[in-house]
Formats: sequence, structure tokens, C-alpha cells
Amino acid sequence: MKPLLEIDGLSVSFRTYRGILEGLHEVSWQVYPGETVGIVGESGCGKSITAQSAMKLLPEETAMYTNGHIYWDGRDILPLREGDMNALRGRQMAMVFQDPMTSLNPVLTIGSQICEGLDPAKFKSRKERDERALALLRAVGITNPEKRLGQYPHELSGGMRQRCLIAMALAGEPRLLFADEPTTALDVTTEAQVLALIQELQKQLDMAVVLISHNLGVIAQMCRRVYVMYAGCVVEEGAVEDIFYRPAHPYTQGLLASLPDPSRPDKELTGIDGQAPDLFHMPAGCRFYRRCPQAMRICTHSLPPPYELGGGHRAACWLLCPERRKACESD
Ligand code: SF4
Ligand code: MG
Repeated sequence: MKPLLEIDGLSVSFRTYRGILEGLHEVSWQVYPGETVGIVGESGCGKSITAQSAMKLLPEETAMYTNGHIYWDGRDILPLREGDMNALRGRQMAMVFQDPMTSLNPVLTIGSQICEGLDPAKFKSRKERDERALALLRAVGITNPEKRLGQYPHELSGGMRQRCLIAMALAGEPRLLFADEPTTALDVTTEAQVLALIQELQKQLDMAVVLISHNLGVIAQMCRRVYVMYAGCVVEEGAVEDIFYRPAHPYTQGLLASLPDPSRPDKELTGIDGQAPDLFHMPAGCRFYRRCPQAMRICTHSLPPPYELGGGHRAACWLLCPERRKACESD
């Protein structure tokens, strides 16, 4: 099967008043039709930038794509002009952002914001569009949808606004949905409902989902494959079982060590000491070396490549270099 979306060695930098900042460094990942992929990492690691660059939503004045390609259905979309990109956004790929209040237009009713996303060739009359908007609001579990159509975002609760955003993103029946921390602003009950809803709609529409979250629990529950990001790089990728039961990168291991485990109430929770590197002053070597309990000399000056561990499990760490592993095994 061919990937629906393939990010291949993508580097993105930003011009800022403090100088050039590298947001992504040679990031590669794929999404296959209908699957759910998780992107996890601390805030500022490049998760959102990755999704926004895939949809080419980064500000053109400051963002520079310095390396790599983005293939949608096998076609390189990096050189596409805004008009051609617009045809892809909404109908092919759509995004649910983190903060519903800033993503909704405060002066338009919910109904008109949903109708904006509908394909005018399919829903020709006002009546057809309104009916479709109602059906979408029902699908996302909004109570009293007839009334909501005419309401403005500030008249709804946070949970309802997030559901409206999902309804808007689904209006164009996208083949891929990016959900960027879709439940961060919600309470635990609403979070569970919204996640269940995304899963259900995904099955119905056979849509691929890229779920971006700093919450490993949410990722474990929802995803089939996971990419772990640190300081603008993908440091580990694999099936969800590989990442959670056989983490190979010290950063992933550190993230998991800080998670409570209901089956092991006596587990000692340890965080990762230190802070992520300043994006303006990236270390030349492994970006994790200042925080890594296993750092070696090579880590301070050379960035490790991703090493294949079998079955699509890869991690970028010098500890996994086959020559080193062989040397250790023969010791
Ligand atoms: Fe730690 Fe070195 Fe591996 Fe980086 S490459 S994670 S510093 S051991
Ligand atoms: Mg983010």
C-alpha cells in the first residue's frame, strides 16, 4: 500500500528577530490510508510545525522549507501554489486545532462556518447545506443541533466548540484529519467522548488520522503507529507496542518512566532532568545529549542516524549503532 502522505527528510527554519530558528530537522514520516498515527513529544518539539507544514499552513513570510519533500498521494506538494493547496485543504486533508476559541470565527454562526467547508458541487441549495450541517452536528454528538446552527462560538461551552471544530473539519470529508492536541482544553469526561467520536467517525469515513499529543496515554489508546519527536527531530518510530513495551531511545524511555502504570502501583516515577535545547542554539551532536543518562563522547558532536530495529521500529541513538552493539555483544 502506498502512503497517503509522506514527509521525506523535511527541514523547516523560521526567520525571527533573534535570528534563524530551526523548527524541523530532516523529519520523515508516513501516513497510510485509514490508519491512526500518533506524534508525541514535549511542547516545542515540532509536533504542530510538522502538521502545519504538511498542510503548508506555516506563515510564508517567516517559514523556509530548507530540505526535503512532502508527497500527497505520490505527488510532491511543496512546490504547489496557494490556489492548488487550497484545493487540497479541507477536501483532502483537514485540521482540528488545539484551541477552539481561536480557531472559530467569532462573528460567524456555527452553521455558516460548517457550510463553508462543504463541497458546493455536492450541496447546491441552501437547504441541502443546512441539512448536511445538521447531520454533522448530530454526528459529533451536539445536543439540540437545530438551535446550535444559528449560535455564535461564544454561546457554546468548550467541549461543544471542540465538537463544532471537528464537524467543520469533517465537512469536506477529508481523507486525512490532523488532530493537534484536540482534547487539551477539555475535562477528562469530554476528552474521552471527543476521542471516541474521532475513532468512530474515522471508521465510518475510512479516514486517516494524525493525532498530535504530549499525552502518551491518549496516544496509546488511539494509535497504531507512533512517532516520537524531540527538539525538531523524529527520535523514534514504531508500532504502538514497540514504543510502549520496547522503547529503544533514552528519551522515549524517560517519557515512559514518568508515566504512572495502573498495573504497577509501586512504580517509582522519574522525570527527565533538564530542559530541551534552545532552538536557536542546537547542539551539533545528539540533541538529547545534555539530558541523556547514557550519553557518550560521540553524542556530543555527531547527530545519530535512525537505526532499523525490525518491523518498522527505528530509533536515532548511537547506542543502537550495529557496530557498537556487535562490539558490546562480543565483550
Ligand atoms: Fe543518549 Fe547518545 Fe543516544 Fe543521544 S545518541 S540518546 S545522547 S546515548
Ligand atoms: Mg503544539
